[in-house]
Order: sequence, then structure tokens, then C-alpha cells
Amino acid sequence: MEKIQVTLPGGGDVEIDSGQPIDVLLSSQQNRDDIIAAKVDGLAVDLSRTLNKDCALQWITIDSPEGLDILRHSTAHLMAQAVQSLFPGTQVTIGPTIEDGFYYDFKRAAPFTPEELASIEARMRELAEQDLKITREEIPRNAAIELFRRLGEGYKAAILEEIPEPTVSLYHQGDWVDLCRGPHVPSTGHVRAFKLTGVAGAYWRGDENNEMLQRIYGTSFPSQEALKQHLQLLEEAKRRDHRKLGRELDLFSFHPIAPASPFFHPKGALVYNLLIAYMRSLYERFGYQEVITPQIFDVDLWRRSGHYDHFRESMYFTRVEDREFGVKPMNCPSHTYVYASRKRSYRDLPLRYADFGRLHRYEKSGVTSGLTRVRSFAQDDAHIFCAPEQIDTEIAMLLNMVHEVYRTFQFREIRVDLSTRPEHFMGSAEIWRRAEDALGRCLQNQAVEYRINPGEGAFYGPKIDFSVRDALRREWQLATIQLDFSMPERFELTYVTQSGAEARPVMIHRAILGSIERFMGILIEHTGGVFPLWLAPVQARALPVTERHNPYAQTVVGQINAAGMRAELDGRNEKLSYKIREAQVAKIPYALVIGDREVREQTVSPRRFGGETLKAMVLSEFMDLVRAEAKKDMPLSAA
Ligand SMILES: [Zn+2]
Ligand SMILES: [Zn+2]
Repeated sequence: MEKIQVTLPGGGDVEIDSGQPIDVLLSSQQNRDDIIAAKVDGLAVDLSRTLNKDCALQWITIDSPEGLDILRHSTAHLMAQAVQSLFPGTQVTIGPTIEDGFYYDFKRAAPFTPEELASIEARMRELAEQDLKITREEIPRNAAIELFRRLGEGYKAAILEEIPEPTVSLYHQGDWVDLCRGPHVPSTGHVRAFKLTGVAGAYWRGDENNEMLQRIYGTSFPSQEALKQHLQLLEEAKRRDHRKLGRELDLFSFHPIAPASPFFHPKGALVYNLLIAYMRSLYERFGYQEVITPQIFDVDLWRRSGHYDHFRESMYFTRVEDREFGVKPMNCPSHTYVYASRKRSYRDLPLRYADFGRLHRYEKSGVTSGLTRVRSFAQDDAHIFCAPEQIDTEIAMLLNMVHEVYRTFQFREIRVDLSTRPEHFMGSAEIWRRAEDALGRCLQNQAVEYRINPGEGAFYGPKIDFSVRDALRREWQLATIQLDFSMPERFELTYVTQSGAEARPVMIHRAILGSIERFMGILIEHTGGVFPLWLAPVQARALPVTERHNPYAQTVVGQINAAGMRAELDGRNEKLSYKIREAQVAKIPYALVIGDREVREQTVSPRRFGGETLKAMVLSEFMDLVRAEAKKDMPLSAA
């Protein structure tokens, strides 16, 4: 028998007979119950795969990202097996994993009902208990096509017809078979904690001209506890859905008259403007100047900027006096006109232009969603024009600014990605190298951990992207800092250097909140609608116990507002308990109860959101408290 050398995960080699399956090496592993697959020379395979040559082995455990993916895909198989055993004649198509779960698309006429989902789950549990062995079989592609045709699985046969390889792999569990690359868990018993989470219609191959399929979504975890935690997060996400809270808190609405374009109501507009005011306060400190630029430009501008060729599908156009105009999807090109409005010298640089201009981008109806994906929005957008040797200091300053902003909103986990030169790029390789070095150096100098995405930069320059995790542990990409060597070239921007020569400035595009609409949606879900005091549209609501307390309550509200804070009166003839509850539902930071004693002593009795009751205090004391608290949450610069 021929011997082969296998390098084990912890290092160290073993010699085994060639042709043995990987799982013979499992017995010596302490955590062998958690190992569901392996990597042979970096390639993920089933534990039943045989080893035929010298190789390096890694284990894949069920709780690793790859293991979880294999578990979830195996759960999709289990679900398909259950569906076909319960509903004969239902055809299988594809069943990939997605973030946090999986789906499988089936061909059958009627959608699955909630009762049917429950019975599918029950059947899955039975099949998991039977701990059916999952085995891989390789057969010629043509034989597989015949097999699936015979089984009445037209979709699988169609998929197979497009596979170029002469040999394909099938996976069997019990009497059920599916076409699949694998790998899979060794047996159905490894699928322990799962839940079918929903159904939806989906077109075959995502094309609306094709027939409609029935999709079932599900998720799967290594343990019941992990599953339970995940389902709780989903519930909480539903409660915090910004579309729901936006309605309940009267912040914004949508109407088909302007699809995917939010209408901000007075309270929503207040929050929106406070976010802008906050960014403006940073601009003062960080040396930005605000500009206001047109909304609609002759398409010549978009031709020159490259948007007409590359971004046209996402733009709105109009004709006036026989000229074609495009509505701006970005501010960048227009800022070059402000720059070029006069001759620039090295002494003028850097120039930092900020613009809260309204932008429009066409997004397909199918992908728009609440505030997080809209067609009309504004960004905390800015463009910095600087000399190449100023890149370092500008980036360092931007990193400070980004971190300050995220601290303010209590985003504590931030991921940073540096994307470098792609295959097709603009400018010289030397400038790229220097710019990438500068970005990396700035990140290192500030001890910011980052990942490098090789080749993922834009064609016009490298970039740094920032993603934050919200309170529900979901990741959102927010800030971006992009160096651009292309636009100054296209718009022939120059400055006079110290030695009197003409040089090209570098343009840095950057946004920290990103789209303010989207940021507000994320912030509503991050805070559950309980805004920090400085951002709360109503900071205090006066609740007179009876109508005869209204006049004093009105005075209280008037004084708070006159002092630059935000209060309102609930003067309705309702029970106090009802008004307190309503103030809670509206997530108002302070409810001020006003009864006989408060009127007599000229005080207020504040109740914090969440129920804590403070002692009665004179109004000036309450206002000091609000000021102090707002200042504590709010950065110094905006105080
Ligand atoms: Zn599979
Ligand atoms: Zn830009």
C-alpha cells in the first residue's frame, strides 16, 4: 500500500495509507464533534473525501464562518428533502446560503402557507433525528442530466446543461439526491438548531420574464442557544424598523407620487437639520468652507466628468431650450468649477469645500427601502483639493474627524478597509503607490486596524471605507475617503507651485455620515428611536394633571423654548397616566408633570424616558440639567 504524508492543522506530519478518508484522522481530535468538514491544501471538502497524495489539512469547525456556511447549506438540503417528501411533484432549483441563513427555491404553483412551513420544519426534525449519512457521488454530467430528467427535475437538468465540466457531483441523504458541489456536513444529525423564517415569490434565474418560483427562507445555528439569540435580534430589529418608528414618531413618510423620496415631517426635519448643524460645527473647527452649487447641469459637464458614460443609468435627465441637462447625482464635478473660478497657488491649498446639496439617483423600485435606499438625498459631502505632499496631513485630519463623529453617535465597533489599485487605473503607478502608502501610513500612525482589499479601489484612486456595527450587531458602510487623480485631470485643474511651475492638485472625496437620509434610518434603528438628548426633536413634554394646570404648563413650555431648547404641551383633557404612557411611546426624554403643587411652588416634576422620576425642581434647575445632559452626549464642538 502506498503511503502519503499529511501535514496536520497544528503542524506535524502523519503518514497514512493512500486512499483513506479524511475522517480516519479525526479520532485524535479533541473537538471532533464540532468538526464538520476539512480543507485539503486550502480547498474545502467533505470529511468522507479520500486522500491520495501528500497534502496539508485544516479542520473546519461548525462555529467558524466557513463551517456555518456549510451547516446552513446542508440545512437547505434537509429542507428540500423534507419539502419533496411532503409535497411530491415539487421541483427543486437552487438553495444557496445568504447572510444569516439560506433559502431554497421550489417550483410549485401555490405559495407555501405558514401551516405548511410548520410541517416542513417537523419533517426536517425527523430527518435530522434519523442522522442520515450524507454521501458524495461523482458521475458523468450526461448521466446526471438523464437522472434528473427521469426524476422530473427539469430545472436541475437545465442547470446541468450549462455546467462545462464532464463530471459532476451528487449528494445523497437517505433516498433523496441533489446536484451540488458541496461540501456538506457528514450526516443530517449535525443539523441541530434551525428555523424557517419566511416565504417569498422569486423568478427563475432572477428574471421577471421567467416563471415564478416559491422561495423558503431559513436559518441554522450550531446550537439552540445561538439560534434563540439570533431570533431575538430579528424580533428586536422588527421593533426598531426605522420605517415603522418613522411613522410612529411622526418623523417622515413616503408617497407613490414621489417614489423612494422621503417627505420629512417637522420632527424629522428637525433631526435632519440637527445632524447637518452638527457637521457644520465640525467644519468650522476642521477648516471647511461650505459651497452651494446648481442642481441641474448641461450634459457637457457629465460627459467631461465621465458620469454620462459610466453613471447614466442612475441619472435623471431633462430638456430645456433644446439643451439636454442632467440632474446631479454627485457634487464632485461642480466643485471643480468653484476651484477653477480663479487662479490657484500653493498658498491657497488645501481647499476644503463642503456641500449639503440635494442629489438624485435613480434606483430600481425593487431595491429601494425606507430611508436606507432612496432616490433623493443629501450627503455631508466634501471635496478637498490639495497638493500631493499634503495628502498625509489631510488623511490624518479626516481620520480624527471620522472617529469623533462615530464616537458622538456611540458606534463603538468600526471596520476600516483600504482598497488599492485595480487592474484598470488612471494616473501613474508611482502616484498610486505614494497615495496607497500615505493612506496605509496614516492608518498605522493612528493605530487604526484595517484590512487591505487588493485591486478594489476605484479606477481614479485608492480609498478607505468605514463600516460601523449598530446596537443589533449589523454592519453598515458609512464613511468613505477617496483619493482622485482623474477628475483634476479631466477638468484641467492647476495650481502654481512655490517654484512658479503649474501642477495638478489631488482631489479627495469624502463623506462621514454618507447620505443623511440613510444615516438617519440607521441611527433610528441603532437607538431604537430614543435619540440622544441633543438630537431629540422634542426634549420635554409638559403634562398638566387637569386643564386648570394648562396656563402654568404653557408658561413652562414657553420658557424652555425661549431658552433654545425644545418643549411641547400635552394640554388634552385626558388622564395623567394616559398622557405619561403616550410620552413614553413618543420616546420623549423628559415628561414634566404639572399639578397643584407644581403650580403653587412654581416647579416641575420631571420623569425621565424609561420611568425614573426626579424630585420636583424649579424650572431653571431643570433647564440646567437638560443643558448639561445634552452637552455631555454632544461633542464639544457643537455645544
Ligand atoms: Zn448542496
Ligand atoms: Zn465626490
